[in-house]
Amino acid sequence: MQEELEELSFATKGKILIVDDTPANINLLTDFLPSWGYEVEAANSGTAGLARVEVSPPDLILLDIKMPDIEGYEVCRRLKANPKTQNIPVIFLSALDEVIDKVRAFEAGGVDYVTKPLQLQEVLVRIESQMSLQLAKAEICKLNAELEERVKQRTAELEIEILKHLETQKKLECLAFQDALTGLPNRSLFLERLEGALNRIKRSADYQFAVFFLDCDRFKLVNDSLGHLLGDLLLVEVADRLQQLLSHGDSIARFGGDEFSILLEGFNHREEAIALAELIEQSLNTPFECGGQEIFVNVSIGIVFGTTDYDLPDTILRDADTAMYRAKARGKACFEVFHPDMHVLSSQAFELQTNLRLAIERQEFSIHYQPIVSLATEGLVGFEALLRWQHPILGFISPADFIPVAEETGLIVQLGEWILREVCFQIKAWQEKYGSQFSIKVSVNLSGRQFAFPDLIGQIDRILADTGVRGEMLKLEITESAIMDNAETADSVLKQLKERQIQLCIDDFGTGYSSLSYLYRFPVNTLKVDRSFVNLIQADSQNAAIVQTIIILAHQLGMDVVAEGVETLEQLEYLNASGCEFAQGYYFAKPLPLNLANVAIAKHFPNL
Ligand code: C2E
Ligand code: CA
Ligand code: CA
Repeated sequence: MQEELEELSFATKGKILIVDDTPANINLLTDFLPSWGYEVEAANSGTAGLARVEVSPPDLILLDIKMPDIEGYEVCRRLKANPKTQNIPVIFLSALDEVIDKVRAFEAGGVDYVTKPLQLQEVLVRIESQMSLQLAKAEICKLNAELEERVKQRTAELEIEILKHLETQKKLECLAFQDALTGLPNRSLFLERLEGALNRIKRSADYQFAVFFLDCDRFKLVNDSLGHLLGDLLLVEVADRLQQLLSHGDSIARFGGDEFSILLEGFNHREEAIALAELIEQSLNTPFECGGQEIFVNVSIGIVFGTTDYDLPDTILRDADTAMYRAKARGKACFEVFHPDMHVLSSQAFELQTNLRLAIERQEFSIHYQPIVSLATEGLVGFEALLRWQHPILGFISPADFIPVAEETGLIVQLGEWILREVCFQIKAWQEKYGSQFSIKVSVNLSGRQFAFPDLIGQIDRILADTGVRGEMLKLEITESAIMDNAETADSVLKQLKERQIQLCIDDFGTGYSSLSYLYRFPVNTLKVDRSFVNLIQADSQNAAIVQTIIILAHQLGMDVVAEGVETLEQLEYLNASGCEFAQGYYFAKPLPLNLANVAIAKHFPNL
């Protein structure tokens, strides 16, 4: 019974309060409304009604107009004046003999009225329509509130965003002009000041300026032996010492790493600037105290004097850099004043070139072999031969750094010959060990300069003859640009290579001209998709489709595809699904020194 009641009240559509001094009306409604799902309460006077509302506010009030204590209109007004009850809809009940004053009823805040004697169905309809209106209002209010809340939140977020933005902006502005380690101006600020100096020299005949470009000698050794933390501390000390030698008005900046630049103004004779360079070198003869050790740091300095010929600050810096490299090449710990002749050999190339020549003699090069695998079997099908330079003092130098210099200076031809010869000797050695079934091809990179070398074919013929290796064991990797740069001879050279069964591979595909339209003319066996494209294969990357397109095009041109720089399983799976035949990358193996390449081969031929 108790449960039934609870269930009933739970299921109620709302609570209705009847305020009427006529018991017959109350009885009629209290009998009728509950069967329509309403909970009913009653009060027999205006005062009792107001009290009831206070105690337990109903969802709707049926309010008699004529009552002995307070008339209905007044009760309604009071309800509407009270914020707690003002939203409760009031329907007036009016006797037929008293003509309802609709104006007063609505002014008092009523929403509707029914006339007596009560037609129960009519009462019900009026109640239901008010209740649903009420519900709709509540819904709208709720939505409004939510919306408002969201707007508030969003505004707050925006405010935070703007604040954050301003903060980063400020930080960025500082960072944009300051070197974080030393607090000195950075390159950007230095360039701005240099621009100012350039403007002044054009306006005033008396004004002079000089730019020093300083680079610490062998600072890499310091970092490698003492660690980067001490290296950084030392750089701060170096910056301090340099700053102490400057006069007011000169500015010094750090360009990152162990590079500094000085803008020298307000001198009358060039000798004064030279004297400062000497002073800097001298001051560095006193060691630095760093981490309880005495450390010597020398710098090589390139000096450029400002002239009205310069239009751009960058050009001055470039020349200062060139002079600095001359100083390094001359034996370091000294300075050089820039002279236009120095551009005959561009900056870094000068030092590297000297080193490169020696490197071949001193046998500082070695070849690493990076496995190329079949995606279908994950078996080894080839190697790419990659050059490594281990300089006794400078340490490991990346081919990305020295190959361009070797190209520029023409040394690549000599170097390339050495690699080809070494690789062919190695292939021969493997063939001797594993016999005729040894089918692992080795790819050798051929640079543009080598490709253009008139005696390339003669060189290759001699190597093949000397080593007894058949051309089909060798694959040459050539970039599209190398071919395009030598468009007139390309046809004939490629044809001659083909005649020797030498395999051809387009390297770094996608980074150069990437015009497949001419590729079909050449006897190319393989297309190597550049690492930057393989990198595009990541979760939710739309760019991955580019790789697929390249693979399809290559196949249509009768080439197989090697994807280079494969680092993840995800990339591997995507490539496999896209029909790519071969892959190379850290996911499988890094370029291996010979002994490890031998291990990889031994695994591939377990029975031999
Ligand atoms: P490349 O021909 O594109 O060679 C591939 C480069 O990608 C190699 O760099 C290789 O070590 C690197 N690599 C391979 N797999 C991955 C990977 O999964 N992730 C990443 N991040 N890198 C990977 P390396 O050995 O530094 O060679 C750089 C470039 O120097 C070569 O690029 C090539 O253009 C040139 N080079 C190297 N050896 C020779 C050579 O003997 N002769 C000529 N002419 N150029 C060479
Ligand atoms: Ca390559
Ligand atoms: Ca590449």
